[in-house]
Amino acid sequence: MNTHHIPHQHQHILARIRAATERAARPDGAVTLIAVSKKQPADAIRAAYAAGQRAFGESYVQEALDKQAQLADLTEIDWHFIGRIQANKTRQLAAHFDWIHGLADIAHARRLSEQRPAKRPPLNVCLQVNLSGETRKGGVMPEAVGALLAECRMLPGLRVRGLMTLPAPAEDEAEQRRPFRALRDLRDRLATPDCPLDVLSMGMSDDLEAAILEGATCVRIGTAVFGARPLD
Ligand SMILES: *Cc1c(COP(=O)(O)O)cnc(C)c1O
Repeated sequence: MNTHHIPHQHQHILARIRAATERAARPDGAVTLIAVSKKQPADAIRAAYAAGQRAFGESYVQEALDKQAQLADLTEIDWHFIGRIQANKTRQLAAHFDWIHGLADIAHARRLSEQRPAKRPPLNVCLQVNLSGETRKGGVMPEAVGALLAECRMLPGLRVRGLMTLPAPAEDEAEQRRPFRALRDLRDRLATPDCPLDVLSMGMSDDLEAAILEGATCVRIGTAVFGARPLD
């Protein structure tokens, strides 16, 4: 695959993130780019890594494991799972990822905790919240997050880091900001000193500015970094 465009596009996204962070009067470095590499070949990840990228997001377990095996020499990668969790894949997720973004089911949480290898630190998780009323992408309803959080916090193999949302696309920035602000408000209500929920995983290529203005700490961007997905 031709990967020559990746460093340039990567720089362009980082510049957009930096500009939005500045506009939000937030400190430089407050927002992490998760480069969504699903359906991209290992070479594309290698090119982004060479450009300095370290956090990569994957959605399909077997595909991710295949690429991880090819990229074992890139020791500084943080692997984020951003796809739909299936109960029969939790063992592989627990063993091969650093972060899980879409946790929304206590049964999945229990399995991930039990299956997290003892030699690894607890698995970082974000609880996915459904804020635009759409069920297509999953997530728990806002009023159910407190109960899920309380249960997940008791699981020794997990470390609940924050909340994630994937709202329906919206046209203008004011409308884009609404679910992101709702996620931040929910976090503010649920955070405690020993569980600050300081990660807000929200924002994609079309709405990253809105998300950063509302406090996103990581944005998930795929095609704007890598181009179209060749393995699709
Ligand atoms: C695919 C995906 C992204 C990135 O989408 P692009 O259109 O490639 O930027 C972000 N978040 C989630 C949950 C995804 O599945």
